[in-house]
Amino acid sequence: MTELGTAKPVVLIVIDGLTPSMLEATDGPALRFLLEHGEYRRAVSTFPSLTPVCLASIATGAHPDVHGIPHLVWWNRDEQRLVEYGSSFAALRASGLVQGVRDTVVNLNERHLSHDAETVFEALEGAGLTTAAINITTYRGRHRHLSPIPGFPPVHGPKRFFFYSVYESDRTGAPIAWLNRSLGSIDSYAAAIGRWLVTRDGFDLLVHYLPDYDYASHVLGPDAAHEALRRADDSVSALLDAAGGPDQFLDRYAVVVCSDHGQSPVKESARLDVSGGLVTASNRAAMIYGDDARRLAEALDGEPAVDVALFLEDGEVVARRHGDDDGAVLDIYPEGRARAGAALRNRNAGEVILSAAPGYEFADLAGRHHQGGGSHGSLAAGDSEVPMLTVGIGPPPSSITGIKGLLLGHFLGARREAA
Ligand SMILES: [Zn+2]
Repeated sequence: MTELGTAKPVVLIVIDGLTPSMLEATDGPALRFLLEHGEYRRAVSTFPSLTPVCLASIATGAHPDVHGIPHLVWWNRDEQRLVEYGSSFAALRASGLVQGVRDTVVNLNERHLSHDAETVFEALEGAGLTTAAINITTYRGRHRHLSPIPGFPPVHGPKRFFFYSVYESDRTGAPIAWLNRSLGSIDSYAAAIGRWLVTRDGFDLLVHYLPDYDYASHVLGPDAAHEALRRADDSVSALLDAAGGPDQFLDRYAVVVCSDHGQSPVKESARLDVSGGLVTASNRAAMIYGDDARRLAEALDGEPAVDVALFLEDGEVVARRHGDDDGAVLDIYPEGRARAGAALRNRNAGEVILSAAPGYEFADLAGRHHQGGGSHGSLAAGDSEVPMLTVGIGPPPSSITGIKGLLLGHFLGARREAA
């Protein structure tokens, strides 16, 4: 797709919820081949380490203080209502199913994602390149797309845009995305679209997002979803095959493989209630919206499910743990100080943000949790560390917020040299 003298096209593969140890130990042929031909490290996610927040960080190269997406569920001060991106299907229904789907699919990109943040799709297409996205929930771009499904308004995405059969820029013959999620129908849909795009060499950047692994890992617990990882590997294999084989694929494309966040085991769940505050809880993070941040944080001083309660006082981050202010605790988490500050300085965040204690999860709006399985969202390393693999595009970045810069450097740096 690129013109002479410019950079190789790139495929960015995001496997939702994949922990570093699972990728490092994989014997899946496609991922193993990429590991053996690339550079690998463990990198850090953002906070809260939850998919909508993390995918916004991957797409914009920034933390929530810039991109504005605070949590899976949050209080929209402008509209005086809850926004629920789908903590669970029951939570989505409790918050109003139609509104929830519209918030997740449409409003996240059209309204909640800050216009001060530029997505990688907007940046590259602004420079004349073609970008493609499959299923990633942060997709904002410069092209208007209509949906064939009644009730879904036009949205702005990359030129080649495929979103769970709801928006499709091109006819590909892919199966319907939703038919059987537990059997991996969403990743099968992504594989079919990916194959179609690679066969046509139809992009400079393809962002190929695979959500099914996270779904399985929530049920089975971290480091147990081997079957789901095999299916993710099959999706990657489909891309390699479409290029004529693994070597031909790497002749044509540079590659980045990562996840958006990790997962850790859940043994107990807790329902949080704070008088005078509105709690929005999901997975292993929660927000409290209310007037007196210190009082709201102190109200949870004895709560075993809370590892640390974070708030701003005179512009400084305060971390409360075991009933004391303890700023030093932030240094035990990967990039803890920077990530806590960026989460709190998001205009959509609660006055207090809670990071769950090891083994705990906060029940969502409908009381759902993943007890006995896996979850994520906290500052802890298990939730926050991600695998980061690059092939043919330079060293892997240390944070998911470094991916956009890596891609811009690759495409626009090479163009500058050619000029
Ligand atoms: Zn998840």
